Amino acid sequence: TAKQRNDGAVVYEESIDEGSQQSLSLLTELRRAVENNELRLFVQPKITFSSGSVVGAEALVRWQHPVRGNVFPDQFIPFAEQTGFIRVLTQWVLERSAELCHALAQRGIHLKVSVNLSTRDLLDQDLPVKVAEIFMRHHVSPGAFCLEITESAIMDDPVRAQQTLERLHAMGCDLSIDDFGTGYSSLAYLKRLPVDELKIDKSFVLNMANDVGDAKIVRSTIDLGHNMGLRVVAEGVEDDAAWNILAEMGCDQGQGYFMSRPMPADQLAGWVENWRA
Ligand code: C2E
Ligand code: CA
Ligand code: CA
Ligand code: CA
Repeated sequence: TAKQRNDGAVVYEESIDEGSQQSLSLLTELRRAVENNELRLFVQPKITFSSGSVVGAEALVRWQHPVRGNVFPDQFIPFAEQTGFIRVLTQWVLERSAELCHALAQRGIHLKVSVNLSTRDLLDQDLPVKVAEIFMRHHVSPGAFCLEITESAIMDDPVRAQQTLERLHAMGCDLSIDDFGTGYSSLAYLKRLPVDELKIDKSFVLNMANDVGDAKIVRSTIDLGHNMGLRVVAEGVEDDAAWNILAEMGCDQGQGYFMSRPMPADQLAGWVENWRA
């Protein structure tokens, strides 16, 4: 049952929730994907509302499957999380992101690269050491990275997650709460964790221009973030109407199709130079 999504990706419905036989083969395929270089690092720029400068980019993984074509992360990330394979995948994303950061710096482009972390990553007590090793090997500073975490990732084992996050923050990495507002206890985590950034979930941003309720949630989240001394980022900025509303509300940074869709990492430097020109 292959279906074409409206963004062109082919979606295989049986890939995640059918029997263990198929799951086993998906795991085999994922392992092979890493070995055979089928994964691609895509990045999406983050732009400041005040000056329109590119200040960061989020790393988003893509899988170029030899038969299935472009497979999107929602088709394999949840599965990778269940099986623990996400640790291998995160390692891969961190390596590529560090390479990218180094390549950008050599062209005089200094951006913060955001990397998504999952529950299993936070439960790995060796993660801070692994991260430090990767940064050192690629000659990049931890300050050039922002780690995006969802509440569900923290919730699984809050004590252990907090320890890991405190160590990563002490190294110099920024921490961001992703999909903010979609969980159950965001506020409690905000109080306890060394957070630098809030990312307003795109579900609130997409409808803002037509839905007064969503607009109020976005405005309140921006105020909350600022009152706590945090940077606030809106994702899902799809048109100039959304851009203007967020700018007026004082949001710090935006990310979305209006500025750029995610692009292959090796196109970012050119894109940034063109954006500045
Ligand atoms: P996310 O972290 O919330 O990432 C934002 C998603 O919104 C991305 O989808 C991005 O392409 C999409 N997006 C960006 N701008 C717009 C816009 O203007 N409108 C709309 N409608 N969507 C927009 P993507 O790349 O398909 O990734 C989906 C999710 O998969 C991510 O959500 C993240 O949770 C997960 N993911 C992606 N790459 C990684 C990774 O390397 N590691 C981990 N752990 N998770 C990843
Ligand atoms: Ca994210
Ligand atoms: Ca998000
Ligand atoms: Ca999301």
